[in-house]
Amino acid sequence: MLNMHNISRIYQTETVRTHALRDFSLSVKPGEFVAVTGPSGSGKSTFLNIAGLLDGFEEGDYQLDGVNVKGLNDDELSRLRNEKIGFIFQNYNLIPDFSLFDNIDMPLRYRGFSAKDRKQRIESALEKVGLSARKDYFPRQLSGGQQQRVAIARALAGDPKILLADEPTGNLDSLMARQVMELLHQLNSEGSTIIMVTHDPDQARALSRNIQIIDGEMSDFSIYAPHSGADLSSSTITA
Ligand code: ADP
Ligand code: MG
Repeated sequence: MLNMHNISRIYQTETVRTHALRDFSLSVKPGEFVAVTGPSGSGKSTFLNIAGLLDGFEEGDYQLDGVNVKGLNDDELSRLRNEKIGFIFQNYNLIPDFSLFDNIDMPLRYRGFSAKDRKQRIESALEKVGLSARKDYFPRQLSGGQQQRVAIARALAGDPKILLADEPTGNLDSLMARQVMELLHQLNSEGSTIIMVTHDPDQARALSRNIQIIDGEMSDFSIYAPHSGADLSSSTITA
């Protein structure tokens, strides 16, 4: 599904050179739900942005659903991203002036689906997140947890191969966070492949696949990791 091999990402500004990822390798299979943890500034968002084709890399190889992304131009990357990836952000990234229906519709329009197909996808996605009755509401009329569920519906409507979530419960209180996590677990049990960056050790512990990024380098703490580079004795993550 997702295969990264020795990826390096270096950010160079006038004064600072940051090795945001170094020799980063990761393989994620269909149906996995992967937690990514690590200190602030360690490279988690960089990894997720590269995985989601929002950012490039200097070295290494990346295959997404069998497609080698190296050498693709911007148009090809956009098309691949729209088709394969569903994003969920910490701050929801909904368009305030659009109804829930139109928010979910927007990326589907880019894909060129027919109006009938779009309507069916939007209604089905809203039903999955339990917000069918609110399709004509605007984001400001919803709680944070509901807004995040709309963002999840928007990600799902395109039928992506993989969902990428960057601290999806970071702005939510604990009850709403739990509801969003239950939804993600349910989607995973129905077959969705999910990679989630999280600050919450309990959320990470609940998953069988746990990777940690520190200073741009990856350790795999997964219970069933094939090549665990981790020293489990010093890990704070317990099986
Ligand atoms: P995390 O999500 O784990 O907090 P990031 O992936 O956002 O970390 O950032 C990793 C490192 O790369 C940080 O040192 C950050 O300052 C740097 N960085 C991220 N994006 C940029 C950018 N666009 N330009 C320069 N440096 C960046
Ligand atoms: Mg981040």
